[in-house]
Amino acid sequence: MIRITDILDKVSEYTPDADTDIIDRAYIYSAQVHAGQTRLSGEPYLTHPLEVASILADMQFDVESIAAALLHDVVEDTHATREEIEEMFGHNVAHIVSGVTKLSKITCSTKAVQQAESLRKMILAMADDIRVILIKLADRLHNMRTLKYHKRAEKQRSIAQETLDIYVPIAARLGIFWMKQELEDIAFFYTMPEEYENINALVNKDRKEKEEYIKTVKKKLKEKITSSGLKADIKGRYKQPYSIYHKMLSQNLDFNEIYDIIAFRIIVNTISDCYNSLGLIHSMWKPIHSKIKDYIGVPKPNGYQSLHTTVIGPYGERVEIQIRTDEMDQVAESGIAAHWSYKEGATLDDKTVGTFAWLRDLVENQKESSDPDEFIENVKIDLYPDEIYIFTPGGEIKTLPKGATPVDFAYKIHTEVGAHCTGAKVNGKLVPLAHRLETGDTVQITTSNEHHPSADWLHFVKTVKARTKIRQWVKAREKERSISLGKEICEKIFRKNNQNFSGLVKSGDIEKAAAAFGFKTSDDLIAQVGFGKLTPLQVLHKTIPETEQQQEKKPATILSKIIKSTKVKEKSSGVIVKGIDDILVKFAKCCNPLPGDAITGYITQGQGVAIHRKNCLNVLKMSPERLIDVQWSEDLTDSYPVTIRIRSADRVGLLADVTSVITKNKANIVNGHTETGDYGIVSSYFTISVASTEQLQKIITEIKKVKKVRDVKRIVSTNK
Ligand code: MN
Repeated sequence: MIRITDILDKVSEYTPDADTDIIDRAYIYSAQVHAGQTRLSGEPYLTHPLEVASILADMQFDVESIAAALLHDVVEDTHATREEIEEMFGHNVAHIVSGVTKLSKITCSTKAVQQAESLRKMILAMADDIRVILIKLADRLHNMRTLKYHKRAEKQRSIAQETLDIYVPIAARLGIFWMKQELEDIAFFYTMPEEYENINALVNKDRKEKEEYIKTVKKKLKEKITSSGLKADIKGRYKQPYSIYHKMLSQNLDFNEIYDIIAFRIIVNTISDCYNSLGLIHSMWKPIHSKIKDYIGVPKPNGYQSLHTTVIGPYGERVEIQIRTDEMDQVAESGIAAHWSYKEGATLDDKTVGTFAWLRDLVENQKESSDPDEFIENVKIDLYPDEIYIFTPGGEIKTLPKGATPVDFAYKIHTEVGAHCTGAKVNGKLVPLAHRLETGDTVQITTSNEHHPSADWLHFVKTVKARTKIRQWVKAREKERSISLGKEICEKIFRKNNQNFSGLVKSGDIEKAAAAFGFKTSDDLIAQVGFGKLTPLQVLHKTIPETEQQQEKKPATILSKIIKSTKVKEKSSGVIVKGIDDILVKFAKCCNPLPGDAITGYITQGQGVAIHRKNCLNVLKMSPERLIDVQWSEDLTDSYPVTIRIRSADRVGLLADVTSVITKNKANIVNGHTETGDYGIVSSYFTISVASTEQLQKIITEIKKVKKVRDVKRIVSTNK
């Protein structure tokens, strides 16, 4: 068990002149208020803040951070108040503690919206004082290390999953690699225990031969590099279980490939030594060209620098080698913490601020999006990046996510450049705006003031900034277009009924109709027609007395035309299309909406209204003027198809158990098939028909309880 003297010793080692009095006082106070409380392990509660403080001391943090770590749970779990902390330990410590306290109030849940909210709060906290997040990460790390004391496996699994979803990406983005790895490995153990065991067994298999192999390769590398007078420290290491697992899944490789388990690292003194070593290794063992990466010349956005190469080694096997200086190695392991200076406290030096500029960008861009779905989508883009590096014609480097297009690049340069871009030249050649850029491309953008953003761009842009700016523009134009579309539709329908719409507008009588519908202006009324929320016939009926309307000829609206050409569905569809009766409704196959899902309608040509889930990707691609408001009707009797994917370990009787859960819950199985993966993981796909998301949720929850089932998900389409 860690003691306060251990922490004080560590602190005075890296900052001999620090005033550690505040740490002492924080310890005594924390011990007092936590007195009598215990952890699930049975140990005194105080062990937890001590461990968290110790993790921060290992990362060589300032005394305020360590004091705050000792106090991080007192406001949440004891009678202590923020005011007391402020009085006793000063504003900074109180500020950090209350930041951590706010974050703890986020309830742990797997629901996407809550997850988005957690991430949002974390990111705002990071921008406020990065120490809040570092304490939160250390707190989570110690809680993960002691997760075995949780009695319920389900709880362990959900905490581990939350760690993978929220804490791991943040640690990765801050470049704290050792922490990211440890969190991942513990979470891997709890979320997929069998896979974890398998990988571990694989790593430990033939351990003696593996050690022999590492020795041989190290010796050969050492001889080659030192022969030219360079000094080098060479390490052979086993990769972390979680990354091995991922690599195998993504590449579908044979698990016995040694290079997937062992990698080498060479630490040298200077940058030129790095490149020299690379040359020496390549002269000894043939490199695989596509695997050479120069992160020294072009560092990763979190500051990571290293040379990577994969060569054909002494036995014809692939050998992965990283080459870097000692300083780079420290940054690679500790990320933002390596830039930390205890003297500067909360302020970071300019270089570090530049390295973490993405954080500021993320916060600034998120202010413009109020929709949680949109936010999580944006955060995902920014937290799981796969960057490419693009040059301006002036030779300046811009970092963009993989798959980014000239439009992203244009917006990256300036919003105005993005908004008016008409074309792009990549390495001197004209390309379409949707062209995928590659690292090393030099991009020149042409602009014209007459050009404006297009909703089509949303289909291919990859950056948050471009997406946000284009959406803003599109929304602003949407109303404009709805008004002109609404006018057009009204004019047409009025003409068919021998009425004069323009006359109505000129006479000002339309204002009366607008008021009758509860709109402020006639434009608002016409826009509603354009949006498809009102039919032109409703407008007609409001403005023209019944007797003046032609009796024998039934008016034909665009919608009624649709209905006529496709025949009205006799049975109730379970969906109400606002303001329209008797409309043919069909459910989109791409997203299979269920009662309870947020839905939207799309006026198809000649096939009635297609109902999609609001978050269906296809909806984003549709022209907004054809989208129409729809809702589920109250009295539902139908059932609807939905596909779920069950991932499980292979076992006899599993399918029988799963199907019995489904039928027990009164759902019909429409279709089912099973795919066996390489890794003993079976993916079973079932299309079942259910009456609501509630029923589906219940079924999913129950299937999750079936022995050996790892994961159950509603999926959008099986591709089958
Ligand atoms: Mn805690």
